[in-house]
Parts: sequence; C-alpha cells; structure tokens
Amino acid sequence: MRLFEAILDANHRAAAGDKSAGVHVADFADALPVVALTCIDPRLNPLMPEVLGLPEEQFIWLRNAGNIITGSMSSTIRSLALACVVKGGKEIAVIGHTDCRAGQTTVLQLTERFAALGVNRSKLPDNIVEFFGVFASERQNVLKAVDFIRHSPIIGPKTPVHGLLVDIQSGRLEWLVNGYQALDAAAARFAEAINVQNPTMQTAFASPEPDGGEKKPSETKIGEAESVMGWSVKDAKVVEVPTPETPPKVRLVEEKSAHASAKRPPVISPFRNRPRRNF
Ligand SMILES: [Zn+2]
Repeated sequence: MRLFEAILDANHRAAAGDKSAGVHVADFADALPVVALTCIDPRLNPLMPEVLGLPEEQFIWLRNAGNIITGSMSSTIRSLALACVVKGGKEIAVIGHTDCRAGQTTVLQLTERFAALGVNRSKLPDNIVEFFGVFASERQNVLKAVDFIRHSPIIGPKTPVHGLLVDIQSGRLEWLVNGYQALDAAAARFAEAINVQNPTMQTAFASPEPDGGEKKPSETKIGEAESVMGWSVKDAKVVEVPTPETPPKVRLVEEKSAHASAKRPPVISPFRNRPRRNF
C-alpha cells in the first residue's frame, strides 16, 4: 500500500466511524512530506491536514482562491516546484472542496463585486473567466490543475501528482486522480517504446552531450541574474519521453509493519485532534 492509498483507506474508515483508523506515518518516510494545493476557504482550516491523517510538519500547504492553476509555468506551479526542490516534497496533491465559492461566482457577480470595491470593468481583462481561472465544476477544476502540474517541465516526472476532492461538511476524501497510476502508465509506455528496438531511443539516454561535455546545472542562486528556473526548463525540455527508470517505489506498509516493535510511533487518525464543526 502506498501513501495515498493508506490515506484514502484511513479517511474512509474514519468517516465511517472507525475510531482506530489512521496512517502509520513512520512507514511512509520516503513519500513525505506531501505538498498540497487547496483553496483559501477558511472552512478548510480545521480540516487540513487532519483529514489526511498527516502531522502538520509533513504537510506543505499552498493555497489560492479555488485551488486554481492557470498554466504549466504559472506562479502556483513555480511554488509547487520549489516546495519539492527546496522543502523536499515527495508527492503533490491538488485538493479541491465541495461548495467552492470560486466555482459558484458568475462573471456578472464578479464584475459587480469588483465595482463595489472600486475596480471598474475597464480595469479588468476582457476574458475574466480565463484570467481568474474561475470554473463551473470543482471536479473538472482539480483534473485541470493536475493535468497542468503533470505536464509542467519543472515538476519531476517521477513525482506522483494526485487529485482529490474533500467534502467540506464531512471531511471525506474522494480520489479523483491516482498519481501512482499515471506514473505506472508512463513507465509502461516507455518500456513499450524501448521494446520496439529503436536503437536511437535505446542509446539516447546513454549519449553524452553533443559537445562531449557532461551537462551540469548552473550554480546560480535564486535571485541572481540567471534564474534557477531558467536552466531547469531548458534542461527538462531536452528529454521529452518518460524517464527510463521505473516509477518510485513507496515503501510498503505491510513489510515494515510486520517487523515493527512494540514501541511503534503513534498513528495519526483523521478527525482525531479537532472536534467536528457544523458549518
Ligand atoms: Zn473554495
């Protein structure tokens, strides 16, 4: 069982009333911390990361209005990339929520409310929907965000990217996109391509750079003239086929659990620490 399989299992059991349900966090050290993108809705404050069964220190939390991503190189994706690179995030999850206001506000309502704040229509872009990324379906919005992340050149191809929807009332999670399956499928496609016995593809990954030198990343630090993102993008675009390596193997729960000592770390149970509220 991999990390998010354990998270969903524990969440569903906890939501069904199983007070013993939880995630053995120590069993998933190789898959933590998790990087999560959620909406800014304050009703999520008491739910995260409790409903995932994760401790706060293993939960890197990015938020924007509507958990919207507008492009594969958007500022939100840059933050997700840095969360993986700088803070060691191992898996990414876009977690939408039910009853999201960003998905319920019409263009007319937006323009009226902006006007009430002193921002006239003439100050706003022509295509407000595209500009703000407002959406009609919370599910479709999560799928779109996951797709942008998965195809972003600055997100590691071996990083699982999941899509979930949390019920704002009950805290129950729905798994919309299984990031492990996407990686497994990419690995299978690569293996199939190799089996075609295309000599060019088989040697592509072993070949040195055309100038004979080994490609090295820049030593430039963030904030200096040559941005870190600059070389990352260029570097990532060199290889446009899936990685030849097998997808990352998250340590199995059963394997470690069978040998766990009596001094097992405490289980983090969804919904355990904070009282449920009626919103
Ligand atoms: Zn929302």
